[in-house]
Amino acid sequence: MQQTFDAVVVGSGATGGWVARQLTEAGLQVAVLEAGRRLNPSEDYSEHTPPYEMPLRGTRLPRERREKQPVQSRCYQCDEYANHLFIDDTEHPYTTPADRRFDWIRGRHVGGKSIMWARQSYRLSDYDFKAASRDGFGDDWPLGYDELAPYYDRVERFIGISGRAEGLPQLPDGEFLPPMALTCGEEILKKAVADRFGRTLTIGRAAVLTRALNGRPACHYCGPCGRGCRTGSYYSSPHSTLPAAAATGRLTLIPDAVASHVTTNAEGRCTGVYYVDRLTRNHREVAGKVVVLCASTLESTRIMLNSKSSPHPNGIANSSGVLGHYLMDHVMGGGAGGTLPVLSGVPDTRGNRPNGIYIPRFRNLETRESGFLRGYGFQGGASLSKWGHANSIPGFGAEFKRRVKAERPWSVYLGGFGECLPRFENHCRLDTERVDAWGIPILHISAAFGDNERRMVSDMADTAVEMLEAAGAEGVSRQENISPPGLAIHEVGTARMGNDPATSVLNRWQQAHEVGNLFVMDGSVYPSSACQNPTLTMMALAARACDYLVEEYRAARV
Ligand SMILES: Cc1cc2nc3c(=O)[nH]c(=O)nc-3n(C[C@H](O)[C@H](O)[C@H](O)COP(=O)(O)OP(=O)(O)OC[C@H]3O[C@@H](n4cnc5c(N)ncnc54)[C@H](O)[C@@H]3O)c2cc1C
Ligand code: SF4
Repeated sequence: MQQTFDAVVVGSGATGGWVARQLTEAGLQVAVLEAGRRLNPSEDYSEHTPPYEMPLRGTRLPRERREKQPVQSRCYQCDEYANHLFIDDTEHPYTTPADRRFDWIRGRHVGGKSIMWARQSYRLSDYDFKAASRDGFGDDWPLGYDELAPYYDRVERFIGISGRAEGLPQLPDGEFLPPMALTCGEEILKKAVADRFGRTLTIGRAAVLTRALNGRPACHYCGPCGRGCRTGSYYSSPHSTLPAAAATGRLTLIPDAVASHVTTNAEGRCTGVYYVDRLTRNHREVAGKVVVLCASTLESTRIMLNSKSSPHPNGIANSSGVLGHYLMDHVMGGGAGGTLPVLSGVPDTRGNRPNGIYIPRFRNLETRESGFLRGYGFQGGASLSKWGHANSIPGFGAEFKRRVKAERPWSVYLGGFGECLPRFENHCRLDTERVDAWGIPILHISAAFGDNERRMVSDMADTAVEMLEAAGAEGVSRQENISPPGLAIHEVGTARMGNDPATSVLNRWQQAHEVGNLFVMDGSVYPSSACQNPTLTMMALAARACDYLVEEYRAARV
C-alpha cells in the first residue's frame, strides 16, 4: 500500500531544506519532491578550477549554452563555470507581453538557488512590515518584527550569518558570526558617508561562516562561491538543512520529481501531490496529510494555479482571484563607480573575500524627503582592480610592466537594490496554450516597474555619485539604467498572506485561507518587497509557520 506522509514538501532549495529539517526534527515523516537531480560536488562544483582549465578561460558561455539559456545567461553567475546550475530555457519556457520583459532565473537541482546565491542576508524591520501604515500604499504584513525576531535568531544560529551589529532600527542586528574585514578603500568610503551624510556603511551580512558552525568548517576565502562550495562553508540546503533532516531518519527525498499539481478530495482538502518523473516521464502521486509548497516564488503559484478541481475551479485557494497577483522584484540599475587615487600603490589585503559592503536604506525613514515612496540599500565594494587597466597603457617590456604595477587603480562602486511597490496588475497566470518539457502548463508573466521605481533608480544614481565624490573618488561615472523585473532574482509575492481572505491567499501562518492542510513557505507569501535581500526572511517566516503547522498537526486541526 502507498505510504501517506505526514507532510509532502515541494522543493528542496533554501526554504524547502529548512522546512524539511524542522518538520522531521519535530517527528513528522516528510517526503520532499525535487524537480531536479542531486548534484555531485566533485563534478558539479568548480570553485577551485583555475581559468586556464576552462576551454574559454571562464570569459564567456559556449555558443550551444547561450542558445539554450537566452534568459539564464543574463544572470552574471550563469557563466562558463556554472551554467549547468541554471535551467535550460528551452525546456522551461514562459511567456510575457512583448513590451514587458521579465527575466526569470532558476536552478532545478537538489538545493535550488541556494547553491548559486550571493548569500547577502538582512533582516526586515517594522519600516517594512508596517510600511503601508506609514505611507498609505498597499497593505501591512499580518505580523510585525517582534513576532519574527526569535525566528530570525533561530535561522541565523543554525545557518550562520557573519556581520557587524550597527544598532540601526531599519536594519535590525542579528546573532552574527565575526564580521569580515573592510578594505582600506571601504574604510575611506565608510568615514566619508558617515561624516558627510550621517549614513552607515557596514560589511555585508553574509551566510558565510567566519568560524566553524554546526559541523561545517569556516570559509577558506577561495572566492567564487556561486560555483558551489565543497566545504559547505556558505548556507546551501544540501550542505546544511537537508543532511540534518536526513539524520532524523524521517526524510524521504525524491529527486527528479516534477510536481504538476496538488491533489484534493471532494471537500477540496489536499491529499498529496501529483508529479512527473523528470527522466521517464511517468506520472506518479505521493500522498500526504499536509502539503507545503517551497518550489520558489512563481513556481509554487504555478502549481497552485494548475491545481484545478471542482472545489477549486480557478486553482487551489484562489476563490478570491488574488493568486498570481502582486508580483514584485527589487529594482536595480542606479549606482556609480570610480577610482580612489589616494590609495595608489597600497596593496589590497582583502584576498578573495566572498562578500561586499552594504549601505542600509536611508530614504523615507522618519521623514518623507524624496520624490518616491519607500527606499533602497546599496551593495558594492572597493578593491584593487584586476589587470584590465593594462590595456590602456602603451608600450612593452620592463617599463610597461613597471607602469602596469604602479598604476593599478583602486576601484570603488555602489549599486542600489530598491523596493518595488506591490501592484495587482503585476501578475502571472497559466498560459492556456503552451506546456513545458514535461507537459505541465507554463506561466504567462506580466510585470513592469512604475514611476516610483524609476524615480528611485534616479535617486540611487545621484546619492551613489555624491557618496563616492565625498570619499575622494575620481572619474566617477553615474549609472542610471533601470533593470528589467526578475533580474535582481529577488522575486516575491503572487500568493500573499494577509488577514482578509478576500484580498490574500494565505493567513498570517502561511496556511491557505480556504484549505487548512495547504501551506506555502517561500517568497510567494510576501505582501510587500522591502529592499533587503529576501532569503533570510523567507526562512525565518518558514520557521515560524512550521512551528504553527506542527502544533496544529499534533492537535489534529489541519
Ligand atoms: C545568482 C543569485 C544571487 C542571489 N543572491 C541572493 C542574495 O545575496 N541574498 C538573497 O537573499 N537572495 C539571493 N538570491 C535569491 C535566492 O537564491 C532565493 O531567494 C532563494 O533561493 C529562494 O529560496 P526558495 O526555496 O524559494 O527557492 P530555491 O532555492 O530556488 O528552491 C526551489 C526548489 O524547488 C524546486 N522546484 C521548482 N519547481 C518544482 C516543481 N514543480 N516540482 C518539484 N520541485 C520544484 C527547484 O528545483 C528548486 O530546487 C540569489 C539568487 C541567485 C540565482
Ligand atoms: S564560502 Fe568560502 S570556501 Fe566556500 S566557495 Fe565561498 S569563498 Fe570558497
